[in-house]
Amino acid sequence: MMKIYNSLTRQIENFTPNEGKTVRMYTCGPTVYHYAHIGNLRTYIFEDILEKGLEYLGYDVLRVMNVTDVGHMTGDSDQGEDKMLKGAEREHKTVKEIADFYEMAFFSDCAKLNIRKPSIVERATNHIDTYITMIQKLLDTGYAYEAAGNIYFDVSKVRNYYQLSGKNQDDLFVGVRDTVEEDKNKRNPYDFGLWFTSSKFSNQAMKWDSPWGVGYPGWHIECSGISYKYLGEYLDIHCGGVDNIFPHHTNEIAQSEAFLGHKWCNYWVHGEHLNDSSGKMSKSKGEFLTLDLLEKKGYSPLAYRFFCLNSHYRNQLVFTYEALDGAQNAYNKLKNRIKQLSRNPDLHDDKIDFYEEKFKEAISNDLNTSSMITLVYDVLKDEELTDFTKLYLINKFDQVLSLDLIDEEKSIDSDTEDMILRKIKERDEAKKNKDYDKADKIRNELFEKGIRIIDGKNGTTYEII
Ligand code: AMP
Ligand code: ZN
Repeated sequence: MMKIYNSLTRQIENFTPNEGKTVRMYTCGPTVYHYAHIGNLRTYIFEDILEKGLEYLGYDVLRVMNVTDVGHMTGDSDQGEDKMLKGAEREHKTVKEIADFYEMAFFSDCAKLNIRKPSIVERATNHIDTYITMIQKLLDTGYAYEAAGNIYFDVSKVRNYYQLSGKNQDDLFVGVRDTVEEDKNKRNPYDFGLWFTSSKFSNQAMKWDSPWGVGYPGWHIECSGISYKYLGEYLDIHCGGVDNIFPHHTNEIAQSEAFLGHKWCNYWVHGEHLNDSSGKMSKSKGEFLTLDLLEKKGYSPLAYRFFCLNSHYRNQLVFTYEALDGAQNAYNKLKNRIKQLSRNPDLHDDKIDFYEEKFKEAISNDLNTSSMITLVYDVLKDEELTDFTKLYLINKFDQVLSLDLIDEEKSIDSDTEDMILRKIKERDEAKKNKDYDKADKIRNELFEKGIRIIDGKNGTTYEII
């Protein structure tokens, strides 16, 4: 049973999806006004491991991510400037050019880090219609109001607005004086913008028609909208970095549940930050830590992934070059050890289940990535395992870890392929004649040569292990 820390209840819980083995997962995507810093990338590594870990446990994960290309202000609660506009001004480009460029840069970083692209990735600006439909319903049902041409969500209308953040209204109001630029149109300081028509940004580049006038959506509504459109009314997991808890995810919950009329997402899973030694990692501060910069300094992206996986996603992690040196050395050594294992096909089943179970336990234990890595070392040390069995297990673990621990090309020559196909045919015949002993014998024979038979709906195929 998968156990995961749920920020909503502030405890580790058994994970039970709404629909059997299908997991509906939403992850907040990047705001594409600049390169991602390596802190942002830590969060995407954690989400990638969560998705792959769930798959290892036998779940089918349907994962959706947005790409923010409008409405995210420099201050997360509507104040400041639109980040996209700021990026466009900085580089004397259009918002669209900025979005195209940095979205590509983001996915290129992800590819280098073996972060799989979610099944559905959608830009915020592609779903204006959905936001308009949702906002209209929120207005009709009294959760939203119009003031000075803008539409705001009234947080006083929902129960438990502060449940996710654990904050209380009075604490927030103390902070509010210093941090929130007062918007006189709001009934309560924490009401948030769903749609802006007359805002202070006369130069807002992208605007759309709406029942309330030409304008643009607030940041929070995009995630509620895209999630609703692609994942429906019930969500199993919603992820992001801890900074998203308030106000972004708090506001997502308020507007989605007001719109749907019922509870929306059961598990909120947040990754802690990567900080530099001076504190918070920020794009506007000093040396801007990108993956590209690490590569230029000679580090491999996967050594950075390894560095992240050695600590738990719920612990803050401090980045230093010394720590990354350590991770790069350990990673190189690990890969070298694995390279030296004999490729002689000699597989022994005996302890495979034992190690696979241990690996599943590490995943299920609130995604304990450092235990997953320790298991790789345990397998390497285990003298009862043949080298080939070690490779088999490490290869399986690497489906989740994605560290390219075994990176040689898996290919076979045409004679071997002929032999496999002949054996599969022979086995099919044996099965037809109900000679299951013979069929099993052929399957085991191939397995020992490092070839696994897969009986699918459309016949039998194989994979090289
Ligand atoms: P953004 O592109 O600013 O919308 O952020 C993308 C993701 O990175 C979000 O899930 C944030 O919560 C997360 N994030 C922001 N700063 C950090 C950090 N220092 N460490 C880890 N994750 C972060
Ligand atoms: Zn979001």
